[in-house]
Amino acid sequence: MPSAGLVYLWSERTEMKLRILTGDRPTGALHLGHYVGSIQNRVALQDSYECFFIVADLHMLTTRPGVADIHAISDHTYEMLADYIGCGIDPEKSTIYLQSAIPEVYRLQLLFSMLVSVPRLQRIPSIKDMAQAVHLNEIPYGLLGYPVLQSADILLPRAHLVPIGKDNESHIEITREIARRFNKLYEEVFPIPKALISDVPVLVGTDNKAKMSKSLGNSILLSESEESLKKKVARMYTDPKRIRADIPGTVERNPVFIYHDVFNPNKEEVEDLKSRYRQGTVSDREVKDTLFNALNQFLAPIRKKRVELMKNKEYLKEILVHGTRRMQEEASITLDMVGEAMGYHHTWNELGMW
Ligand code: ATP
Ligand code: MG
Repeated sequence: MPSAGLVYLWSERTEMKLRILTGDRPTGALHLGHYVGSIQNRVALQDSYECFFIVADLHMLTTRPGVADIHAISDHTYEMLADYIGCGIDPEKSTIYLQSAIPEVYRLQLLFSMLVSVPRLQRIPSIKDMAQAVHLNEIPYGLLGYPVLQSADILLPRAHLVPIGKDNESHIEITREIARRFNKLYEEVFPIPKALISDVPVLVGTDNKAKMSKSLGNSILLSESEESLKKKVARMYTDPKRIRADIPGTVERNPVFIYHDVFNPNKEEVEDLKSRYRQGTVSDREVKDTLFNALNQFLAPIRKKRVELMKNKEYLKEILVHGTRRMQEEASITLDMVGEAMGYHHTWNELGMW
């Protein structure tokens, strides 16, 4: 339920839909983990919410600050846009924008950084994981501040809901704390946003590592070719004690069966495979071949759409430019509200800066 202040804000603009903000870092093409963790929910909710999807290139700098990475943002952004639209995100309905092109996000992040303590940020486990994943011995100030920048992203369009994977849940907790703190210290400007964790909070990697991730090299891309998909599925981790097809295997927490559960719509087939796997009457080959078929059927339409989209970069560019302009308008409104609430408008006025 919205707080009293928000009811007031909404009743003034009752035609307004509630808002979603979420997005991805442009570090490469997206994978099945992104899809089940967040994109699926975005597609499902794009009619009932006003959606803002961020191409979070500033977040990329937390672990990859080099010029080569920055030059790669444009190519990665095209890939991401093709993934989004290929999965069913409708750019006519949703605002897709480039984070680094919105100056207000840098400003809001600085203001928010005053409202959260260092020990509070140090307690977030995902920050340490990210530093480890890219072999950083010392955590940069900006990486520690990742959830603060994320708070600025979410609160810039004054979003209410954030569809994300489980790994990001603790960041939304920080966002809620910052929004509450701001509203209490100044004026009620921000909704207190909620995380929306999907039915598959974390998709396991093909190697059985806890999380499918680009940087861990254990992912299946939404753009994966049929051939490469076949190889990746064939090499997937499965019950290691099954060196022969007649040895009974374990289905629970086995990534091959986790993927079957998520991506194979033929539930009867999955149950039959599970039961024969437990008895040792099915080969790994058969289990993986059926998984390949299910995944391939799921990816085929996305792949097809993507090919068309990647041929038309001008169209993708237009979507991003249009979305960034739209976001820019919203960001200016928010920073106006922030400046007013914090008393800066008054001060700038006094000093002749306004
Ligand atoms: P990668 O680790 O592959 O580089 P990432 O975590 O950096 O991916 P982000 O751009 O940070 O990717 O995440 C985008 C969204 O996708 C977030 O909401 C995140 O929680 C979700 N996500 C990423 N990987 C998974 C996964 N394996 N399972 C579920 N959700 C995921
Ligand atoms: Mg991440």
